[in-house]
Amino acid sequence: MENFKYQNPTKIVFGKGQIQSLDQEIPTDAKRVLLLYGGGSIKKNGVYDEVIKHLQAAGKEVVELSGVEPNPRLTTVQKGIDLVKEHELDFILAVGGGSVIDCAKAIAIGSRYDGDVWDIILKKAVPTSAVPFGTVLTIAATGSEMNSGGVITNWEENDKRSFGSIYTYPKFSILDPELTYSVPLNQTIYGIVDTMSHVFEQYFNASTNTPLQDRFGESILRTVLEVGPKLVKDLHSYEYREVMMLNSTFALNGVLSMGVKTDWATHMIEHAVSAVYDIPHGGGLAILFPSWMSFVSEQKPEKVAQLGKNVFDLDATGKTDAELAKETIAALQEFWTSIGAPTKLADFDIDDAQLDLMAERSMVAEKIGSYVPLSKEDVKEILKRSL
Ligand code: NAP
Ligand code: FE
Repeated sequence: MENFKYQNPTKIVFGKGQIQSLDQEIPTDAKRVLLLYGGGSIKKNGVYDEVIKHLQAAGKEVVELSGVEPNPRLTTVQKGIDLVKEHELDFILAVGGGSVIDCAKAIAIGSRYDGDVWDIILKKAVPTSAVPFGTVLTIAATGSEMNSGGVITNWEENDKRSFGSIYTYPKFSILDPELTYSVPLNQTIYGIVDTMSHVFEQYFNASTNTPLQDRFGESILRTVLEVGPKLVKDLHSYEYREVMMLNSTFALNGVLSMGVKTDWATHMIEHAVSAVYDIPHGGGLAILFPSWMSFVSEQKPEKVAQLGKNVFDLDATGKTDAELAKETIAALQEFWTSIGAPTKLADFDIDDAQLDLMAERSMVAEKIGSYVPLSKEDVKEILKRSL
């Protein structure tokens, strides 16, 4: 295990009808609120009306910014920063999924920084404060509701980057599973894949002696394997929606990263694919993860084999780790196919035309990942296996 510090200041308000708590959760000294949301799903499912009712009841002045894109763009972050500065807004409320929440995080730090917010995202500048913000989560996927990370796309540069700081934890997040009933089938599937992928990124690490962290991750994965297939057949089930919501939050709230050197290479490669082709994050991960696993298994099959034994209940008797790793990858692909996830880049009409650019954009460092550090050539090979 590595030495570590752990602190997570986000308050979670979980359960049916918890949107009622909104007026109590927004600090009383916050008078002017930026209400941030996406392309309009909250207007169709009634969440917008509910939120406005509570903001009015709490006597807040509201300025709205809608149209946050899935894979939120720097241009929208800049619009938010301009509104916060122009109207002297003192709180941000993000209502939506990872995209809206990540956008809120970038607006929050960018509004308290005199230079270009992209400098912070590129880690050329360090944030020193942020406008406080809270979230009302409407889709179970990213875990952004209880972590400090965000991902923003600079579309003009085909660059999608993650950032984070101690200032970008939400003050609170309202997690009402009922708000996710209207999440369509494809987005529900992407959420399941993203949740599992977050576990993989931490489970496959460069650390040793992490049995508790491993078992935490395996528990989340086993729960997803049990509930995911039921949820995709019954999108209005409270029972399945609530379990998936807690799964996705716990998959990326820092618990699984305690004391481990995490990997994240597949997320970096997916961000590069999204930065060039603007595909849904979970869809990209479903395609890339089996290719990544097959590539790293050629050098280090042991943890992939452990995943097979402990999560997919594969029988290890008389098999080498390499053999078991192959079966594990097949089991993972079979599971993702069974719930309707995409399997190859061609499913999003992506061919090898921009392979170099995607490999280039993946390389946020000389090598990426920790389980098996990858060179640009390795990334290209993984992308080729994903075509
Ligand atoms: P999302 O991009 O926030 O939303 C995807 C789609 O689902 C949008 O069209 C959205 O519509 C719709 N939607 C959301 N809630 C809905 C509801 N209740 N009913 C109907 N439709 C609904 O999805 P996401 O997977 O949560 O976020 C993806 C982004 O997060 C990517 O940019 C990814 O790179 C990033 N990410 C962040 C982290 C992190 O820790 N911060 C981790 C992994 C990934 P509207 O536009 O109308 O809302
Ligand atoms: Fe993710």
